Amino acid sequence: MVHCAPRGGYALRIRVLRLKKGEIMAEPILPDVQMNLVRASDPVIAGVVSNELCMRGKSASFVKHLVLDVGNTALAGAFRAGQSFGVIAPGVDERGKPHKVRLYSVACPTWGEDGAAQHVSTTPKRLIEEFVPQKPADDPDDHQLFRGVCSNYLCDVRAGDEVRLTGPNGKRFLLPADVHAHDYVFLATGTGIAPFRGMLLELLEGRDGPCSSRIDLVMGSPYTTDLLYDDLLQRLAAEHDNFHYHTAISREPRRGKPTGLYVDGLLNEQFDYFGPLLDNERTIIYLCGLMGVRVSLFRMLAAQGLSDAYLQVNASLLAKRPGDWSSSEIRKGIKPSGRCMLEVY
Ligand code: FAD
Ligand code: NAP
Repeated sequence: MVHCAPRGGYALRIRVLRLKKGEIMAEPILPDVQMNLVRASDPVIAGVVSNELCMRGKSASFVKHLVLDVGNTALAGAFRAGQSFGVIAPGVDERGKPHKVRLYSVACPTWGEDGAAQHVSTTPKRLIEEFVPQKPADDPDDHQLFRGVCSNYLCDVRAGDEVRLTGPNGKRFLLPADVHAHDYVFLATGTGIAPFRGMLLELLEGRDGPCSSRIDLVMGSPYTTDLLYDDLLQRLAAEHDNFHYHTAISREPRRGKPTGLYVDGLLNEQFDYFGPLLDNERTIIYLCGLMGVRVSLFRMLAAQGLSDAYLQVNASLLAKRPGDWSSSEIRKGIKPSGRCMLEVY
């Protein structure tokens, strides 16, 4: 069912789902977006504008803020905050085939880094690890440095270099069509902050003035020095009373506590603060980052009695305590509702 009602001269549309008798839930209406304008068979060439580290301090990780010029290509003006684009690294893989497309989240608002939607940005993190055998034929004693192909390529490119792009990708991890109709809880781990950088700039520094909805961001990082875009996020929080920036640092002990904190742990620990916000039917949760966070978040929401708002839980799981739900039970038995947006893997 779709309700249309005037609000400040703007037609507000809220889809109302009937749950049980008398119970309703408002789901966000998402905008239409362009998808797959450029495919891997015929990628466009973007020019590198800049490529700078974006961690707060000296860290074992290397994460860049990469700006690409897509002007004069089919991707100019094509992205919305929350979407991603594909990158084809140069060269061939171990089978001699061209490298597969890897996806990277758009980290800028819909109007781009330049205000004209010609410069699009993202947040590549170098994948660098010791090699872990993957196939039976792999040498179990081979622990040489493993470097991810595309992330290291993107972190290496310099101003003036050319990068092959595809996209846009994604039609669900978006801000709602009427941003004023909702409040927001953004949960990020690591480079999962990329889409939220774009969304926050869109909400708070839009051309029509800042959106006054309540916005909370919880950013999860191993160490304080790993926090990404921290200067920008602190500035936005200082300038906008409706934006609250929280950090969950997992590997630094806290005063009086032996361990650090995960994003879902912070929501749980500060439930007096987050509870009323999560309980409000205006609120949408967005989660971007590690797959494992989805499991912890779903358990936490269910344990706090918030399943109806954010999750569709299979009846077989309802008999068990959420804390006892396994990862595979959660994967098979729970779907997020329209108010729970996930981009995890
Ligand atoms: P690859 O060369 O593809 O290597 C990764 C693969 O190697 C893994 O799948 C694994 O099978 C294997 N592997 C991993 N570690 C080891 C090891 N130690 N030993 C042996 N094998 C190993 N990433 C970002 O950094 N920023 C973003 O904004 C971003 N946005 C994304 C948005 C979406 C929608 C999606 C789906 C992904 C996003 N990613 C992002 C992840 C990105 O697409 C790549 O997966 C990531 O950069 C790694 O790619 P790579 O080519 O460097 O690694
Ligand atoms: P990172 O810097 O290592 O930070 C991840 C944080 O999350 C760490 O503090 C980590 O803690 C914590 N964490 C680990 N398991 C968790 C769990 N189950 N619940 C809650 N918190 C948990 O992150 P990263 O290396 O950037 O990785 C981020 C992930 O997001 C990558 O997989 C990346 O590819 C993905 N990503 C996805 C998208 C997308 O889908 N659009 C976009 C960008 C990035 P500990 O390490 O201390 O345990």
